[in-house]
Amino acid sequence: MRSCFSVLLVSLFMVSMVCAQSTFTVGTAAAAPGQKAFGTIDVPAHNDPATSIPVAVFHGTKPGPVLALVSGLHGTEYASIIALEKLIQSLDPAQISGTVIIVPLVNIPSFEQKVPHVNPVDGKSMNRFYPGNPNGTQTDRVSWAITKQVVKRCDYLIDYHGGDLDENLRPYAYWPKSGNATQDAITREMVLAFGLDHIIVWSDRPKDPNASRYLDNTANTRGKPAIAVEAGHSGTVEPEDVRLLLDGTVSVMRYLKMLPGTASPVEHPVWIGKVDTVESEQPGIFYPLVQRGTYVAQGMKIGYVTDFYGRMVFEAKAPAAGVVLYICAVPSMKKGDTVANIGEITTTP
Ligand SMILES: [Zn+2]
Repeated sequence: MRSCFSVLLVSLFMVSMVCAQSTFTVGTAAAAPGQKAFGTIDVPAHNDPATSIPVAVFHGTKPGPVLALVSGLHGTEYASIIALEKLIQSLDPAQISGTVIIVPLVNIPSFEQKVPHVNPVDGKSMNRFYPGNPNGTQTDRVSWAITKQVVKRCDYLIDYHGGDLDENLRPYAYWPKSGNATQDAITREMVLAFGLDHIIVWSDRPKDPNASRYLDNTANTRGKPAIAVEAGHSGTVEPEDVRLLLDGTVSVMRYLKMLPGTASPVEHPVWIGKVDTVESEQPGIFYPLVQRGTYVAQGMKIGYVTDFYGRMVFEAKAPAAGVVLYICAVPSMKKGDTVANIGEITTTP
């Protein structure tokens, strides 16, 4: 199988080789070979305000693929945003074979207003409305612009997330298993190269490129291998979370032969075949009983909800044995809110 990947990689290099001697432009960022350039992807106003998304382009002198790195679809998943901001500071275009497009913060209103999960301008998650719509609300228009100016321009993509303000999350990655054997083999190598040791196998994603919903799936349904990664929790920027995301990125770039050195893939990951979402059946005050990353047995109590007088109104139990991928990090709880995500382990990914 490995020789198939090599043939594919070589053919992508050849495509990019044609462009290696000319300027590479994304939005207003135009980088000559061997240079980096900063600019914006400008999304015009429609029925709600315009927005301007920062973008950095690192254009190598040597031929190689185009890799897109995007974070901050959720603007309060800070560790992932800071990781790409640090990468922008540390990448040297003279060292790169190919081109790297970095979009460190897509959802600026969420970041500025400290609103988790959604874009406060239109109340939509910015990772559910791909491939977007140029005539929709701001989230639709941003998604459209990212599809056109980033996804369509790249050969590979990584989408970065990291435990939102209310998510006490252990690091993990997603392997999008599409059923296309060649592409699945590449995304598998990418997700292993990234190095996070818990990997969710996501095999029920939309197959229609016109209803791709998620950013990584928008790339995958257009034939561009893509993975999603998460590290960070509860609004913190812990150095070890940022480090995981930076090291993983460098390792994937080595796997793609965009940087010198060899990739350091995770050798024995915990594969997660199914994710169970535990929702609260009552509103009130949430108290967790387990930590992120705890391994739980089926039926084990993982937290509880009281009313505002301290009386127990709901006990949250693990529906199956598995690992606590994340658990609600704050006391605020509405009926139907997520208490925790439990990952069921599989030995046959
Ligand atoms: Zn996210």
